[in-house]
Amino acid sequence: MSNTPKILIVYTGGTIGMVKDYKTGALKAFDFSQISSKIPELQQLNCEISTISFDEAIDSSNMNVNYYIDIAQIIADNYEQFDGFVVLTGSDTMSYTSSAISFMFENLQKPVIFTGSQLPIGDLRTDAKENLITSIQIASTSENRKPVIQEVGLYFEYKLYRANRTTKINAEQFEAFASMNYPPLVVSGVHLNFNHPVLFKH
Ligand code: ASP
Repeated sequence: MSNTPKILIVYTGGTIGMVKDYKTGALKAFDFSQISSKIPELQQLNCEISTISFDEAIDSSNMNVNYYIDIAQIIADNYEQFDGFVVLTGSDTMSYTSSAISFMFENLQKPVIFTGSQLPIGDLRTDAKENLITSIQIASTSENRKPVIQEVGLYFEYKLYRANRTTKINAEQFEAFASMNYPPLVVSGVHLNFNHPVLFKH
């Protein structure tokens, strides 16, 4: 991994990429190319962030296998240039999408972290910033110049799970996902606690 990790954010759609127009109450798409100026906290992370957005933001209800291929192709095309990937999707079908992507990649040796949010990124009480910032931080964590996470994960509300073990359990609470039969890979508290024995290693 480079000294300054390079992270690619792929925005496909979902609530996380929305901002509310407070005058009309309507939700509009957020311009991810301006992410560092809109979320200045990102400048404190020691990494270089690039973004790619789908031309049209996809809601979970419109997600399908063609978009799975698009996401996988973006990661494959950029695999060598980046140290880690953060994929933003609607949360309602995120478990299905991230599971499919996990089975599409063989010998993945870099982190692919899916995340989203329950409230739009522009909302006062949003969970989007924490989910996004910590996902980027996890994707840029290395040990002995190798990424610590070398699999497809799903980060939501202080926990990184193995993506293909997750299920969405709640559309109202910030704690929206659970992994019934596999422990969290990372728990974010005062420190980021990586649960090393359960991480996938080559
Ligand atoms: N309807 C949104 C979706 O695409 C909700 C969300 O992103 O959480 O799943």
